[in-house]
Amino acid sequence: MVQISKSKCVCCHRCALFCPVAAIRSGRDGASWIDEAICVECGVCVRNGCLSGAIRRRRSPWPRSVRALFSDPVTKHRSTGVPGRGTAESKTNDVTNRIQPGQVGLNVELGRPGVGTSFHQVQQVTRRMAKAGAGFEEQNPLTHLMSDRRRGVFPRELWPERVLSVVVEASLPLEELAGVLKELRAVERKIGTVFSVSVYCRWADRRRMLALVDRRRLLPQAKVNVGLGRARRQR
Ligand code: SF4
Ligand code: SF4
Repeated sequence: MVQISKSKCVCCHRCALFCPVAAIRSGRDGASWIDEAICVECGVCVRNGCLSGAIRRRRSPWPRSVRALFSDPVTKHRSTGVPGRGTAESKTNDVTNRIQPGQVGLNVELGRPGVGTSFHQVQQVTRRMAKAGAGFEEQNPLTHLMSDRRRGVFPRELWPERVLSVVVEASLPLEELAGVLKELRAVERKIGTVFSVSVYCRWADRRRMLALVDRRRLLPQAKVNVGLGRARRQR
């Protein structure tokens, strides 16, 4: 929980300039206060915002504790040892060997500064991905929070919790990509936040993958990462 001490606040409103979700308000007396429902506990105002030491932070209890876990880049997830919102694996597949020939990796990034997202919205996406055959990545902290990984479901108490952004990571056989993209297309107009989708595969599978993306009339922005590292995992 992040709060502002009224007795220390000098009403300069500097902290409000740093908040990525506009959670810092000013009261009639001029003092700033934090709207707890909106605050995602990113810690930016604590680290940078206040020169008077008026902003203090206490560790939030479960389930609110997930806000800082996904929004504050300096916190580490106990489940994976990874800080922040995901593993950004797509750039390093040549080293980790996570996505094998014939498979496609899928990253769905939900929320952005200024918008944020809730676990209810994340679940709208993960349920559809699971329905279309996607398997969620073991090394991603979101996967560990699911109460039912096969169905992409999170515990109900998490649904209202808000975070700045998350990255859902999954993989599936290439031939099932079209089904997942169709499901994501269907949810994009119903969900109250923004999300972007990245797909990646081995070089040999690129033509098949791009043809599937093209068929769904998505506009690909492609890039190639050349693997120069030594493979850590061989399967
Ligand atoms: S920066 Fe500190 S002193 Fe200034 S309004 Fe925010 S909490 Fe108050
Ligand atoms: S912790 Fe982050 S979200 Fe919360 S008030 Fe501070 S800057 Fe805004």
